[in-house]
Amino acid sequence: MRDLTAEESIRALHSGEVSATEMVEAAVGRASDDPWNSFLAVDANGARARAAAIDAAPERPPFGGVPIAIKDVLSTRDLTTTAGSRILEGFKPLYTATCVERLERAGAIVIGKTNMDEFAMGSSTENSSYGPSLNPWDSGRVPGGSSGGSATAVAARQAPWSLGSDTGGSIRQPASLCGVVGMKPTYGAVSRYGLIAFASSLDQVGPLSRTVRDSAMLLKHIVGRDPCDSTSLDWWKPIEVPETDTLAGMRIGVVEELMADGVEPGVRKSVEATLLLAEGLGAEVVPISLPNAGFGVATYYLIAPAEASTNLARFDGIRYGPRGEDHETLLEHYERTRGDGFGPEVKRRIMLGTFSLASGYYEAYYQRAQRVRTLILRDFEAAFAKVDLVASPTSPTVAFPFGSRTDDPYQMYLSDICTLPSSLAGLPAISIPCGLSDGLPVGFQLAGKAFSENQLFSAAHALEGAIGFRDAPEVMAA
Ligand code: GLN
Repeated sequence: MRDLTAEESIRALHSGEVSATEMVEAAVGRASDDPWNSFLAVDANGARARAAAIDAAPERPPFGGVPIAIKDVLSTRDLTTTAGSRILEGFKPLYTATCVERLERAGAIVIGKTNMDEFAMGSSTENSSYGPSLNPWDSGRVPGGSSGGSATAVAARQAPWSLGSDTGGSIRQPASLCGVVGMKPTYGAVSRYGLIAFASSLDQVGPLSRTVRDSAMLLKHIVGRDPCDSTSLDWWKPIEVPETDTLAGMRIGVVEELMADGVEPGVRKSVEATLLLAEGLGAEVVPISLPNAGFGVATYYLIAPAEASTNLARFDGIRYGPRGEDHETLLEHYERTRGDGFGPEVKRRIMLGTFSLASGYYEAYYQRAQRVRTLILRDFEAAFAKVDLVASPTSPTVAFPFGSRTDDPYQMYLSDICTLPSSLAGLPAISIPCGLSDGLPVGFQLAGKAFSENQLFSAAHALEGAIGFRDAPEVMAA
């Protein structure tokens, strides 16, 4: 049962081959025995109760009681939600995020909350206050981040699929480093209600899974307008679970700037091999340029910290966060709560964001970054006049060793160079595993126009079939 995809698990549940109770019991066992530190909380009793209710009901819901792991940045009622931060240790939300509620309504069972970089700031889970997650392919290497635990849970077959959040690459980059599929939808596709905010103009929730079809099935149930999030959109055409195995008539543009020098040779080789496969499936593959893509890192690291600095103001020990007793003044109280509660990267971002929003600096930094953001969007618009989808590596490197980038934040920020442009432009993008380099997975990224999810899934599904990535980390032998 361990190696079943979500789709296969759902089929087994509907055919009666296995009950939700049996499936959830096995998944809870795997989540509790957790050498990769994928989980921050396992809800064994809650999951068992929901499985029993589904098994007892006269009709099985669409997902039939399939287990799912949820990134700890999504609020779950009565179940600890920390966003990977000490400041929220033991916090139990009063309500459940809309997207999680929608999945539960469809019959998915939340087995636990996954590890992540504190407040989703990071690319390795090394910024988690609860210790990093380990890459199942090599436990001396990072799984990527910030949705690292959501990626390791799927890669290590603890859960068939999971939810992550992506602000600048946090679903796609860990998916790439762990050899699974990760998808960031169009901005506004999925309600952010109950998602602990990092950078509100960029944050999106999306699936991590073993197959592209599983990702589509999951997304299908979470998209759409939610009155509780005014940026969520009406989804007028349903997400389709892809069937096609051809790319005939499809034009794919390869982003020249994202295939340049910083890309490891092994990554480039797998990506180039995948582009040849795309041609074999009937696609026309042409080089394209996103001239401002190189400014993605600088732009993102002004806009995201600026938004974070205001979003994180609520963790003041009064509204959220521990309320200590032994302070004399209000200021001392704030300083104590935030000084003890936040880790170094979060503090760095708050300072950077506050600085770039200060009067006198606002025009020079924040406003200029917003202008460049528009230029990046225009680059994509120009590209989409010529091609249907744009391709690049997801990450310029494979999984890197622990500690190798922690001393140099800029090196860490460069991990997201390939995922940031589509995030800044609000576009959907998917990462699929496309091969191994020195035994570690490589991710291939496709991005499309806003609302092109169906096209993106179709292309990714066709390619996935041609790539035939069947490798699994050695944990499967255990
Ligand atoms: N790694 C990027 C950052 O640190 C992106 C994080 C994310 O997408 N949540 O901000």
